[in-house]
Amino acid sequence: MLNIFIGAWSWSEHKICSYHSTIIYNFFKKNWYNLVKSPDLADFIILNWYPFEENEEKKDLLTIWFYLKKNLNAKIILIWSMSWMMKYMDWFDRVILIWAKSLNKFDDLFEHNFSINTIDVDNVKFFIPLYFDSLNLDLYWYSWMNIESKYVFSKYDLEITWDIIKSWNYIINENIEYDYEKYNYLDDISWEYPIEICTWCWGYCTYCDIRNVAGFVNSVPLEKVIAKINRWISLWYKKIHFIDEDSASYWLDIWIDFADLLNEVAKINWDFKLRIFYFEPWRLEKLYEKIDKNVWNKVDHFCVPLQTNSQRILKLMNRRYDINNVIEIVKKIKEKNKNITITTQFIYWFPTETFDEFKSYFSVMNIFDEIWFWYYSDRKWTKSVDFIWKIDKKEMMRRLVYLWKIKVKFLDRIFDKNETLSQWIKIFNNRDF
Ligand code: SF4
Repeated sequence: MLNIFIGAWSWSEHKICSYHSTIIYNFFKKNWYNLVKSPDLADFIILNWYPFEENEEKKDLLTIWFYLKKNLNAKIILIWSMSWMMKYMDWFDRVILIWAKSLNKFDDLFEHNFSINTIDVDNVKFFIPLYFDSLNLDLYWYSWMNIESKYVFSKYDLEITWDIIKSWNYIINENIEYDYEKYNYLDDISWEYPIEICTWCWGYCTYCDIRNVAGFVNSVPLEKVIAKINRWISLWYKKIHFIDEDSASYWLDIWIDFADLLNEVAKINWDFKLRIFYFEPWRLEKLYEKIDKNVWNKVDHFCVPLQTNSQRILKLMNRRYDINNVIEIVKKIKEKNKNITITTQFIYWFPTETFDEFKSYFSVMNIFDEIWFWYYSDRKWTKSVDFIWKIDKKEMMRRLVYLWKIKVKFLDRIFDKNETLSQWIKIFNNRDF
C-alpha cells in the first residue's frame, strides 16, 4: 500500500486550502491508504497552497525544492491553485499537477473503492508541510544583499524557470528532522461545520491572478445548502462556516443571489452562528437593502475587503463601489449586532499610490475590528503588471516603516498577513531611514 503525505498552508480563518486538502485526505483515508506523518516516509507528497503573491510563491518554491532534494524517491502532486499558478513546475517528471477541474486524475492514479467525487468533509484539518526554520527564509530572501535583486518580482522575472531557481543557490539542511508532533495534521478545533457554497469569484481585479486561473463561478443549489445547515445544527453544531473565495459571488451561475441565501438562513429558527469569510464590498452595497436585517444577529464574522481607501486607486483596481457608502453599511450592521466582528484588508504599494493615500488606510482603524495589510506585487498575466509609476524601493521601505510603527501601537488591530513586517524588522534595525 502506498504511503501518502499531505501538506497545505491555509490561512486559519479562511480555511479554503484546508478544506480542499481535507477532501484529498479523506479520499485516501476512506480508500485505506497509509497517511504518514512525515514526508520522509511518503511515496507521494501532496501539496496545496495559494501562491497569490510573490512572497507566498517564493515560499512554495523553496518548499517544493526542499522536498525534491530531500525525498528523492517521492513523487510530488501539486493541487488546486498551485497547479495552475505554478505551471512552470511541470518541467520536472517527479511533479504532477492536478487542477481543481481535473480531480478525476486521483481516481486514475490511485486504486480506489470510493471515487474522489463522492468524498465529503465534516471537519477541516490543517496541514503544515514543512518546518519553516529549515527553509532559511531570512538567509535567502531577507538578508540585505538580496533585497534589491530578489525581494520584489519585477515584470521581467515573473516567469520563473528552473535555471532561475538554480541560480538562487538555495542550500537545504538535508538532515533536518521533521517535527510532525508540532506541524502535522492538526484538527480544526473551532467546531465550525464547513459548507462549500460556491467556487471562485465574479471579479476582474487588475492585480489579481485568480481570475486567470479561475473558471466561472459554480454555486451549490440553495436547497442543498439549507438542507446541510439544517442537518448539522440538528446534530448540535453551533457554527457554520461558508467555504468559498467570496461568498457574495454566490449567484452568478444560478441566478439566485447571496441575499436570497442569507434570507433563507435568517428563517432558520435555531441558535447558531454563521461565519462568512469574504463579502465583496460591491455586492454588499448592492444587496444590503435586500438582506433580512435579522440575519446579522446570526453572523459572527465577515471581511469586507476594501483593498484601498482611495476611490482613484479603486478604479485602477477595476473595483466599483463607493468606499464611504460601504463604510456606512458596516456601521449600520455593527449597530444591529454589537458582537459581530467585521474586518477589512488593504493592498499597499499599489502602482501610483501616494503617501497620503497610503496613510488614509489608517483612518478606518476605529470602524473595523481588524485590518489586514497585504503588499502589492506584480503577478503573472495581470493587467497591473503594465501600470506605470510603480512605487520605488526606497518609498516601499518608508511605507513599511510607517506601517511597522503604527502596528506597534495597534497590535491587536493590524495584521500583516504576509508577515512582511516581522521579516523586515531585522533589516530596519540595521539601517537609518
Ligand atoms: S474579487 Fe478580485 S481580488 Fe477578489 S478573488 Fe476575485 S478577482 Fe481576485
